[in-house]
Amino acid sequence: MALKTVEEYLESIRDNREVYLDGKKVEDVTAEPKLKKMVKYACADYAIAQDPRFRDLSTETLPGGERVHFVFVPPKSVEDLMRRREIIKLSARIGFGLPGGAKFTGIDGINGVALAAKRIDRKLGTDYSARLEKFRKHCMDIDAAVSLCMTDVKGNRALHPHRQQGHQDYYLRIVSSNDDGIVIRGAKVHISNTAVAHEMVVLPCRAMRKEDKDYAVACAVPANAKGVKIIGNAGDGMHPMVVFDDVFVPTERVFLAGEWAYAAEMPYMFSTYHRLSADTYKYTELELMVGAAGLLAEYNGLEKVSHICDKLAWLVMYAEGTEALGKAAVQNCEFDEESGYAYPNTIYSNVAKFFFANQYHEAEKILQDIAGGLVSTLPSMAELNNPATNEYIRKYLGINEEITAEMRMRLFRYIQKLCAYHSGNITVHAEGSLAAQRLTLYRMADWDRYKALAKRACGIDTEHPEVLALPNLIDAPVKVT
Ligand SMILES: Cc1cc2nc3c(=O)[nH]c(=O)nc-3n(C[C@H](O)[C@H](O)[C@H](O)COP(=O)(O)OP(=O)(O)OC[C@H]3O[C@@H](n4cnc5c(N)ncnc54)[C@H](O)[C@@H]3O)c2cc1C
Repeated sequence: MALKTVEEYLESIRDNREVYLDGKKVEDVTAEPKLKKMVKYACADYAIAQDPRFRDLSTETLPGGERVHFVFVPPKSVEDLMRRREIIKLSARIGFGLPGGAKFTGIDGINGVALAAKRIDRKLGTDYSARLEKFRKHCMDIDAAVSLCMTDVKGNRALHPHRQQGHQDYYLRIVSSNDDGIVIRGAKVHISNTAVAHEMVVLPCRAMRKEDKDYAVACAVPANAKGVKIIGNAGDGMHPMVVFDDVFVPTERVFLAGEWAYAAEMPYMFSTYHRLSADTYKYTELELMVGAAGLLAEYNGLEKVSHICDKLAWLVMYAEGTEALGKAAVQNCEFDEESGYAYPNTIYSNVAKFFFANQYHEAEKILQDIAGGLVSTLPSMAELNNPATNEYIRKYLGINEEITAEMRMRLFRYIQKLCAYHSGNITVHAEGSLAAQRLTLYRMADWDRYKALAKRACGIDTEHPEVLALPNLIDAPVKVT
């Protein structure tokens, strides 16, 4: 069976998974009121795939005639990556700037591990990529909701996994293994949508040393596997801690087991895909920010004031710059020679993520600046229906007959949500902290080309072919006279 209906999906996650929220065990994740938001976002992915308006975009018929969700199909071209972006954008526009909850992060995990596994197989003769493709097929068959478990709790960040003090489980590790499989122990944090996922792709979050080889582990684990405990974050439970308390993983689901020198390939390839996904959905949130700022200017009567126009123009540059960088990452994508898999341009997808994350607080500042103090002091929306106060609220909080108090109150309430403390934190840290993008950019930059171009300007010899090919039509800036 492929392509679940919303009802089939909901039924399928009532499977005795061990989920905790606010100090209590959740018996049925689909019935827990506090998890409603996460469940809705996951259901949205299934509803979109069933909707005749979006079916051709979201789903694909395989050569055997089976219709599956398109995101499970290995990306092989610019068009495939662009289509992935359109699917994310559609769900995020439907979801007011947040992507669907069933197939967002885990798919990037599957594609990232697929590519990393191919590289490892090529070097070591292992069969990890065949195992991964079997897992991919299983996900297609059950139309899986998939989450991605990369971020370890990490303990003392300055210490390598094997050097941690107190206990040895701050990074997920293999505690035993035999021909049938491995047993893993550890805890991953901030793991989005896991309480409503069928499957979790597990991978290391950093490079490992020889002494860390037990921590070099990647695998796939069902969310209801014995020993998996999902401890929801306060509030909406969307980004829980996932504890792996001696969980058995059969060999066919293991994609890395001790090959420490290759551990970093997994998070690196996952991040390359995932930073593009992040940039794609973030654009839909930035569209909302630009629109809300425009409405603030209008609802405060300040549309023609020059310093407000400057700020609105900056917001447009910020949003459209994010979109342009995401498109550039796809249009300049790279290909794995052997498998033909397409993956986003590493430099551009990292620049895109850094570009939006690094400037997000500036955008929030502009919204708060244009809005004025009412963002903090807004009376409760309930006053609109309070017979004792509603007359005053309606009289004093509008600006004229067209722009009413209710319209302005709705907008200010939305600004409160847009600028809530966790929006900035999510933007900076989800998909990797700013340092992670800096590191990748530093490592992956084409330094030879940059330096050769600078040498040419200085009049220093260079053998770089691209630079040698440039005709000398303009005087070089540096001359020895
Ligand atoms: C809303 C949300 C959703 C997320 N979803 C997922 C998910 O689905 N799956 C998943 O695997 N992860 C997820 N993440 C995790 C995300 O990738 C991490 O938050 C991010 O990588 C930062 O890790 P951290 O939170 O442990 O912070 P830390 O690693 O503690 O980082 C805090 C700061 O310390 C710095 N730092 C850390 N270690 C060092 C060091 N050794 N040397 C120098 N500086 C250091 C960092 O650069 C950063 O500036 C999510 C995060 C958020 C906020």
